[in-house]
Amino acid sequence: MLNRNINRRRFIKSFLMATGVIAVSSRIGIKNAHALENISVIVVGAGIAGLGAANMLRQHGAKVTVLEAKPHIGGRLLTDWSMGAPFEVGAGWIHGPSSDNPTKKLADAVGAKYVVTDDENATYFDLEGYEYDEDEVERIVDAWEGVLDHIDSNYEVNDQRSLVQAIKDYRPAYLSDPAIMWVFSAYTEFSKGGAIEKLSAPLFNWDSAFDGDDVVVTTGYDEILKPLADGIDVKLSHNVTSINYQVDEHVVVQTDKGAFEADYCICAVPLGVLKANKIKFQPDLPGSYNASIEKLGFGSVTKLALKFDEPFWDIETQYFGITTEPKGRWNYWLNYRTFSDENILLGLSVGDYALEADRMSDKEMVDDALKVLRNVWEDDVGEPIEVLATHWATDPFTLGAYSFPRPGVTKSDFDDLGEPIENRLILAGEHTIFDYAGTTHGAYMTGTRAAEFIIDEES
Ligand SMILES: Cc1cc2nc3c(=O)[nH]c(=O)nc-3n(C[C@H](O)[C@H](O)[C@H](O)COP(=O)(O)OP(=O)(O)OC[C@H]3O[C@@H](n4cnc5c(N)ncnc54)[C@H](O)[C@@H]3O)c2cc1C
Repeated sequence: MLNRNINRRRFIKSFLMATGVIAVSSRIGIKNAHALENISVIVVGAGIAGLGAANMLRQHGAKVTVLEAKPHIGGRLLTDWSMGAPFEVGAGWIHGPSSDNPTKKLADAVGAKYVVTDDENATYFDLEGYEYDEDEVERIVDAWEGVLDHIDSNYEVNDQRSLVQAIKDYRPAYLSDPAIMWVFSAYTEFSKGGAIEKLSAPLFNWDSAFDGDDVVVTTGYDEILKPLADGIDVKLSHNVTSINYQVDEHVVVQTDKGAFEADYCICAVPLGVLKANKIKFQPDLPGSYNASIEKLGFGSVTKLALKFDEPFWDIETQYFGITTEPKGRWNYWLNYRTFSDENILLGLSVGDYALEADRMSDKEMVDDALKVLRNVWEDDVGEPIEVLATHWATDPFTLGAYSFPRPGVTKSDFDDLGEPIENRLILAGEHTIFDYAGTTHGAYMTGTRAAEFIIDEES
């Protein structure tokens, strides 16, 4: 019921969506599969952005080498089957799976199977573990809509206030109302990957979305990457430490296993890696790039899958929203029984609490999450028989979940990061596209955009 329009990615902004979404397929097409025959490209990072770029360049005849620090491809798109059902370590949903969505196209191409997740098929609990009645749900929805309308009517796009400041300006009492804080956490902090205290009020809800109700991929999300990686020279466990992009019209990329040289470099590592200066650029990146890298937000989302012998919850209900303190603590749960045979509950911590949860041991995380579940289902909650947990903020090759607009950031802080540097180096990844930041389709679009630049340049 809560979701009267509150789809995490589409709420209220559907009418704002540009009618002409970014063309998904290459506008260039494969006119000449040999056009780039004498061109070599190094792609750093085998996530969906890097692999999307590599695949397109290879189809145009370029010699492509992908350097990936981890022992596997995928980055933030990775499926773990050890529990018997797909545990999506990173991306879990295809948001807006219309026929325009490039991720949906990739999934269709591998014969993926989907289940629509229904945000309205949910039960919500208060701080004491009692179910919210319809009136309370209506009150929460009205509060949410009120804040968004307030921002919409009163804030210019360059307003420097945070979302929390906007809530305070509109109805200060909301900030001490756990139910209303729950909706801003479970929906907004989850959707944007950052705490409401750190989100830009005018920009947090200004991105774009494709049509269609969100789906999970029951055949495993990361299957979509296989055709992209097919035939590409992917060097796994190669940690890139520096990129020199001004060597006689060449780039030299240094890894822990030696140096690689090429005509171009596409650097598709996460924003967290750039923020931590894990890769030394020679010369340094231009000042505006460094300023944007510093300004953009990069938070976390923690996932915890708990498998039980028997379900103690209603197996027909898709989601359980649980009001918790502190804000962001295991406040949204997905019931796997609605799309698999496994008795799994997937819990989420978001906002600043995710940064804490990521630093817990798996046991600490489980104990913490079980307290939340026992507040609702009391002694019916047994001990989990299997556990899977994520720690994105401490993953050295990611250092967070996805990018978000902090107060003071502009759309160009995202988009301009994807502009070629000295016509040799191009940054790609979900953080380089404002409209679709924090998604698999956004990341993929930035990879193909980077590849198109090189194809254009050499045609
Ligand atoms: C918990 C979570 C939930 C999410 N949920 C969704 C969702 O439901 N739907 C959705 O659309 N999106 C979701 N996302 C976002 C989505 O996963 C990302 O936007 C997308 O996968 C990013 O792709 P990318 O190619 O930009 O980066 P990545 O996939 O992170 O790829 C970057 C690669 O660079 C590698 N790398 C890093 N440093 C180096 C180095 N020094 N040398 C070599 N390689 C290096 C990394 O190991 C990684 O493989 C979620 C993300 C997370 C973390």
